[in-house]
Amino acid sequence: MRKTFRESVAQALENSNLTGALGRFSEAYRVSRAKAYEGLDFEAIRQQIVRIKGSAAERLDELAARFKESAERAGAKVFIARSPREARDRIVQIAKENGVRSVVKSKSMASEEIHLNRALEEAGVSARETDLGEWIIQLAGQRPSHMVMPAIHLTKEEVADIFSKEVEERLSADIPRLVRVAREQLRGKFLAADMGISGANVAVAETGSIVIVTNEGNARLATTLPRIHVALVGFEKLIEKLEDVAPILTALPRSATGQLLTSYVSVITGPTPNTDGTPKDLHIVLLDNRRNDMASDPRFRQALQCIRCASCLNVCPVFRLVGGHVFGKTYTGGIGAILTAWFDALEESDDIQALCIQCGSCKEVCPGGIDIPGLILEIRRRVALEKGQTLVQKAVFSVVNNRRLFHAMLRTAAVAQAPFRKGRFIRHLPLFLADLTEGRSLPAIAPKPFRDLFRSIEQPRGTKEKVAFYGGCLIDFAYPETGAAVVKALNKAGLEVLFPEAQTCCGAPARYSGAYEVAGQNARDNIEALLAEDVKYVVSACPTCTVALKEEWARTLESLGDNASLARAGQLAAKAIDFSTLVKELVDQGRLRLVPGAERPRATYHDSCHLKRTLRAEQAPRQLLGEAGVELTEMFEADVCCGMGGSYSVKLPEISAPMLARKLKSIGDTGAKLVATDCPGCVMQLRGGLDQAGSDVRVRHTAEILAERIA
Ligand code: SF4
Repeated sequence: MRKTFRESVAQALENSNLTGALGRFSEAYRVSRAKAYEGLDFEAIRQQIVRIKGSAAERLDELAARFKESAERAGAKVFIARSPREARDRIVQIAKENGVRSVVKSKSMASEEIHLNRALEEAGVSARETDLGEWIIQLAGQRPSHMVMPAIHLTKEEVADIFSKEVEERLSADIPRLVRVAREQLRGKFLAADMGISGANVAVAETGSIVIVTNEGNARLATTLPRIHVALVGFEKLIEKLEDVAPILTALPRSATGQLLTSYVSVITGPTPNTDGTPKDLHIVLLDNRRNDMASDPRFRQALQCIRCASCLNVCPVFRLVGGHVFGKTYTGGIGAILTAWFDALEESDDIQALCIQCGSCKEVCPGGIDIPGLILEIRRRVALEKGQTLVQKAVFSVVNNRRLFHAMLRTAAVAQAPFRKGRFIRHLPLFLADLTEGRSLPAIAPKPFRDLFRSIEQPRGTKEKVAFYGGCLIDFAYPETGAAVVKALNKAGLEVLFPEAQTCCGAPARYSGAYEVAGQNARDNIEALLAEDVKYVVSACPTCTVALKEEWARTLESLGDNASLARAGQLAAKAIDFSTLVKELVDQGRLRLVPGAERPRATYHDSCHLKRTLRAEQAPRQLLGEAGVELTEMFEADVCCGMGGSYSVKLPEISAPMLARKLKSIGDTGAKLVATDCPGCVMQLRGGLDQAGSDVRVRHTAEILAERIA
């Protein structure tokens, strides 16, 4: 990550106006979005959008040609621009040919993408934004920080200052007054403008219609008052049929702002009449700008299913801390990183995509069904292929790829850490390592790793079924007691637990860094180790590892074209299961019984990102803890990432720390003295933060709590 980018991140984090506004909005957004979708089947709507936009993405040029034909039949003039330059030149040409001096614009991200305002100004045409947020941004000389709410990063006081300069009058930060000023200023511009420029939310090939949704009505004025209307529309807005508009209009306002419907929906088919009855001059510029290239890429084609609702930004725990000026370019957030890689250049998105913590919140809410975190990993892979790994990465991964060396180093570190160790924590590290313990203690490496402890565990004889336990690095070397609890619980259900010693790191650090060759070797080593014996299940008590077992090893091997190993990965995936889901099955089958003790501890539960959003297994631990007599109090935003994100907390501690701070506040607000979670990574993050805060709240893995309450 470049130093200048890191400095921008630091500035954004220090901007309390930004973090305050985005934080408040993101909290309110979750509630309003949920309310807006009440009574509707979001998944069904999403599937409709995926079908409609997915099929359109497969034939963009065909739909563009059909749209052109239909729209021209209705009286519009359609121009297909392959590049931003072609689009700019065409619009400037229309302006020049018609003697246009002033333009009013309604909100259009495509116009930001092609830097249209600058081109118009250079051609001597004054271009005025009329969406309130865009106008504020234009006056401030900034770029939008959010795709739907461009000025969300500014306070009303800052807006008052900006407007005061424009009207040369000191204005107070009174929102209704500021809105009135905007209306007064903009009305005249609408009436005087020679040309109106809009974007479009949808372009329908069969009818040649464009659909525009707004809340302020400015698009209606911009598209009807001036004698010329130019609509700039990205190829991804093309769909085949008019009836296909409905699901998009159902999702767009709900996902964007938690509204049931935007205030204005305009469907424009052909030129509308001017006030004197003559037909308007309607031009539609369809913008490709590598959208066809994207459609030809089997991995990235799905990104064209985006309806630009920005809900992926609204739920992103990183975006709400740093905002879109850091997390994005023209387009912001996770989808912004992806679009930047295509519309600008791969290396342009290198810093931006590194901000993604891979929590999966965006994927969960995306109405376009886009695997945003997966595509960001693919960008990382392509960047790593293009640029190669850094020296540090090469050194680290060469160790991780050599199990014996890796484990020998951990055993050495268990001894070397003695001067820094305080009980189970390392609270301070010297020199350049000091940042690692800033705001969070680290777990001390266990004196005896789980793989050694396991040999001394006596398991009952005569069990018929075998299960292989995949420990993962944290349970193996930091929290061996969690592994012991897993063995105890499964033994009680009559399962013999095997711990294949050749197992090693699940490869997540390498995969998340784009180092797929390293991750692939980790996958192959583990697959052979875990399938060496005929077992019924392969269980893991780490959701990140379980996702690797069930999905990511196969995906990595597929990306590497290793078909021989892919079949073995499939066999393993069929047996892989997370601890709580397996225990729930065993309890339901009557093979395990949970016994509430005399003491009924009050606890709260923290969802691990992967357990909740990838494995969708967040109910099993809650039900099991309830049956075990634990009284759960739900914390605020229980499923929002705690900031761990594997190596993310080490690479970007400045972002991980405020995420942890929010989580600790939510925990504190419940009053519970115990936090349960299914992820050893979250255990590490939460315990470390609570230890540094001097808190008496304990954090335990669900397996440890349950193992004490099994009959
Ligand atoms: S990627 Fe999905 S959530 Fe994000 S703006 Fe596009 S449609 Fe909305």
